[in-house]
Amino acid sequence: MTTIEATTETASWWQRRHGGERDLRVAYFCMEFGVDEVLPIYSGGLGVLAGDHLKAAGELGVPLVGVGLLYRGGYFRQGLDTDGRQTAEYQPVDPEAAGLVREPAEVEVALGGEAVRARVWRKDVGSVPLYLLEADWLTDALYGGDREHRIRQELLLGVGGVRALAALGVEASVFHMNEGHSAFLAIERVRALVGAGWDTDAALEHVRATTVFTTHTPVPAGNEVFAADLVERYVGPLAAEAGLARERLLELGRVDGEEGFGLTPLALRLCAYANGVSELHGRVARETWACLWPGRPAEETPIGHVTNGIHPATWLAPPLAALVRQAGVDPHAAPDEARWERVLALDGEALWRAHESCRARVAEVAGLDPGRLTIGFARRFATYKRAGLAFSQLERLLALPVQVVVAGKAHPADEPGKDVMQAVVRLARDPAHAGRIVFLENYDLGLARALIPGCDVWLNTPRRPLEASGTSGMKAALNGVLNLSVLDGWWAEGHAPEIGWAIDGRTDDEDAEQLYRLLAEEVVPAFFDDRPRWVEMMKASIARTGARYSMHRALAEYAERYLPAHAAGSGGRG
Ligand SMILES: *Cc1c(COP(=O)(O)O)cnc(C)c1O
Repeated sequence: MTTIEATTETASWWQRRHGGERDLRVAYFCMEFGVDEVLPIYSGGLGVLAGDHLKAAGELGVPLVGVGLLYRGGYFRQGLDTDGRQTAEYQPVDPEAAGLVREPAEVEVALGGEAVRARVWRKDVGSVPLYLLEADWLTDALYGGDREHRIRQELLLGVGGVRALAALGVEASVFHMNEGHSAFLAIERVRALVGAGWDTDAALEHVRATTVFTTHTPVPAGNEVFAADLVERYVGPLAAEAGLARERLLELGRVDGEEGFGLTPLALRLCAYANGVSELHGRVARETWACLWPGRPAEETPIGHVTNGIHPATWLAPPLAALVRQAGVDPHAAPDEARWERVLALDGEALWRAHESCRARVAEVAGLDPGRLTIGFARRFATYKRAGLAFSQLERLLALPVQVVVAGKAHPADEPGKDVMQAVVRLARDPAHAGRIVFLENYDLGLARALIPGCDVWLNTPRRPLEASGTSGMKAALNGVLNLSVLDGWWAEGHAPEIGWAIDGRTDDEDAEQLYRLLAEEVVPAFFDDRPRWVEMMKASIARTGARYSMHRALAEYAERYLPAHAAGSGGRG
């Protein structure tokens, strides 16, 4: 655990810690950014995490810029039809309302023989600029279109993003690829160095030494693979300019001699530091990608982990933030375990009243009972997240004095995900379950901020080990909402009996059995019969999460990678 002193002085944490590294600058690339609900260019946890990364970097003074795409149609607004089926409507982003500023720079990227020009916008996230590229039809929507559309978007992000920084005069010394979608940036950087007179091998080594890569999920959607002919057509000319002939290019994305070009293998081969997003996910990633290092034992695969964190000031509900501040903890400052422990001394009555005001707000929005034990479940409807598990034995759930709030979008092309959602929506619409199960439409940042702190229990039931992190559980825990979750992602390392409950079955049936048993035998009795203990658990949850699962802590760990990457690059330059 990295320890960080609290910042009360004016000098930023970075200046005091690493002020000597004057020309270090990190360019943080991501396909999606969830900064604000008026800028809907994110689909879920990955984007929200990227937004939190920028916000926390600003507060700590880490010299960093973000690079992404501006999807003019955004991500879709979710509706439900009369059958309970998800409908999707794309709403144009209003640049002015979203606080976007047009930069004077334009960039050009050749895509399959066609020159595409992109505009560059800037969104200020606190003191951190986020540069967003836009090219009409190409950046119509996030995660829409076919494979060809996707590779074009990802080339625009990687290649166009590097060119945009150059056009803007932003000299980045470290490049952070947040998920493989942006990995083409490495090829463009090699090409630029070769154009400046470097030989290809030296350029590859320089790019590798100055690149940090974070892999976010073991599921295929986050580990994209393109057909070799598509890569040849779209990336071949760029790679040729970088001195990478066809076979050498294809080798960079190859796994085990298979057909296809993977962006995660490409990123892993062209970075000096790779990490998963929780301890367990790091281990899973090492096993998955051990094949790229034949002859090495899997546990020596060069992938570590930085457990994700959340931006406290974004996620702490205002009534709780007021109490936490009164206790002497500044949510904007670098975390300090001893300081967050002051939360343990909070007046229990005051904390409970603050929490009840959050629950009352959700109850009003959802049409629920403001006094009933409220269980929340909200996230993308990807099938591995098993949104149906809690409803698999409905009579057992309804026999308990609880109400359940569900929200989340399915990717419009994910039919199985939409099937699960439809089944849950139908349960919620059944008059027999009125006031017991509610589905809230159009889950986004704003709804998440209102919903999560207003629940008493936060439920997460992924199929282990597919939930790499599960940051919504951290958002809940920071607000004293007790987690009841499968021991996957962050909860596998974050769980303790003082702050919540763990599910660790080996099958769907075992997990469901444990879930119902824990609810009936532990959660419900603790809530109704031992309120003082419940409030102590809330305090412990807030104190622990504020210190350990803050994005400030995660950034301090990333700094341990940014610094040597920067040093390696400065030493080898010229
Ligand atoms: C935090 C967040 C997520 C991620 O939720 P998980 O349970 O970690 O998958 C998704 N969508 C929104 C809007 C969020 O705020």
